[in-house]
Amino acid sequence: MTGLTPKVFVDFDGTITKVDVGNMFFRKFGNEEESLKAVERWKEGSLSGAGLLLEEASFVKVNREEALAFAKSCEIDGSFKTFLSFCTEKKISVTILSDGLDFYIAEILNSNGISSIPFYSNRARFDATRIEIELPYESDCTKCANCKGYQLLTRTGPDDVIVYVGNGYSDRCAVQYADIVFAKDDLLKYCEENNITYYPFKNFEDVLAKFSKIASSGNYRKRHRAELKRREAFLTE
Ligand SMILES: [Mg+2]
Repeated sequence: MTGLTPKVFVDFDGTITKVDVGNMFFRKFGNEEESLKAVERWKEGSLSGAGLLLEEASFVKVNREEALAFAKSCEIDGSFKTFLSFCTEKKISVTILSDGLDFYIAEILNSNGISSIPFYSNRARFDATRIEIELPYESDCTKCANCKGYQLLTRTGPDDVIVYVGNGYSDRCAVQYADIVFAKDDLLKYCEENNITYYPFKNFEDVLAKFSKIASSGNYRKRHRAELKRREAFLTE
């Protein structure tokens, strides 16, 4: 036992859900061609994360009922609930961090009977045919609208070991501060290229297999480079 407390943070789109719901939403109800162009500009760094979200949302034509029906049709990784039960049993906190939108996260969690888990995301307000975006967690980060790195720094303390599970570009800011990283898809490549130690996973069965071993040993350790990065971030604030 190291006296440290694990805090688990999980990405939503493509990590808890089988597909990237946000992307699909903008492709289905927005302008696919314009969205793809905007995503390219964001990946190159010429468009901010907030700018990307506002631009994609500006093309959307949908009402609340259609948007919720779409969300309901999106499936989650079946093993996520098993992972959650394990964490609940061990009294380990699990929080969802998303650079997506609140309405589909709430709807998908709700329709899968998951109510006990907090999430922090961007927000969408519906009027008759359009959505308006609210950015409650805007930070200095130019890559993200809701920066998960910023979220980790504000939601953890010195005795916490940060466990992070994710799959994509919007998880890049988070993994630099995380002690135990589970990565797949683009995030896995990013961890490889940036020498961030990670465990590869395909689904939450893989995450649980590894994490339950660490949890039962109680041997939580901080990742040295993550700790330095966190210290650095606090000093430059
Ligand atoms: Mg994702």
